[in-house]
Amino acid sequence: MERLLLFALSIFFGVFMNRFEHEAIVLKSARSGENDRILTALTLKAGKISIMAKGAQSAKCKYLLSCQPFAFSQFVLALYPKNPLMPYAISADLINPFRNLYSSVERQASACFATEAVDAVLEPEAVDSHVFMLLYHTLRLLCSMDASRASLMALAFTLKLLAICGHAPELGACLVCGAKLETYFINVDMGGILCARCAKGEGECIVSSLEAEYSYALMHMDMESLGEVYLVDEATQLKLLKVFCLFLPIQRQLRSLTSLLPE
Ligand SMILES: [Zn+2]
Repeated sequence: MERLLLFALSIFFGVFMNRFEHEAIVLKSARSGENDRILTALTLKAGKISIMAKGAQSAKCKYLLSCQPFAFSQFVLALYPKNPLMPYAISADLINPFRNLYSSVERQASACFATEAVDAVLEPEAVDSHVFMLLYHTLRLLCSMDASRASLMALAFTLKLLAICGHAPELGACLVCGAKLETYFINVDMGGILCARCAKGEGECIVSSLEAEYSYALMHMDMESLGEVYLVDEATQLKLLKVFCLFLPIQRQLRSLTSLLPE
């Protein structure tokens, strides 16, 4: 009898609270009032959503670890009539906390950069399974790869994100005359590289043909192979990261980019 009552109650609340489940990666976790947090999370099926996590500032919260940035969890959510735009977290099963991201400054900085970039690029509820999988594999590989490869991962992530969003820079030859040379100017407005003659001295930055080829290879490379790829020096990687961030379809500079770049 008791079981039957519980079953009936769960059906009743399930219907009226509109419960649903999502696998989600936390992009951002912001304080809300004294006790709660508002999570910005990327889900596979509903895109980027906000989640109200009641009591998530208390150590007693049962799903505290699922509310940390980068955590990947299965959330049970519910919509209440009084706040139909933001689901509340009812419970969460941690799938992977990606804890190793906190083991080095380099890993954490690259993970912060990737999550902030995804948050900036995606509109609320825009569903893009490619972006979800890119972020998931980036966080996973950042955990397992040597920390010295963290900025390479940030660069490869940026190039792959650009390709997914339809903003992949053209890196094969001068966009205007088609010349293949040793050095090029980056031109963000035109979406790629120009020779010195066509650029007329204007451009964000100069890249060598080797750097352009290297970036092209990273953009198209299988992510698992990034653990083996030749590492260019850190200064070159960060120069390329900075310049390719200019191609991202966002209105503001990413704050986390500054923690990746030298002073
Ligand atoms: Zn040219």
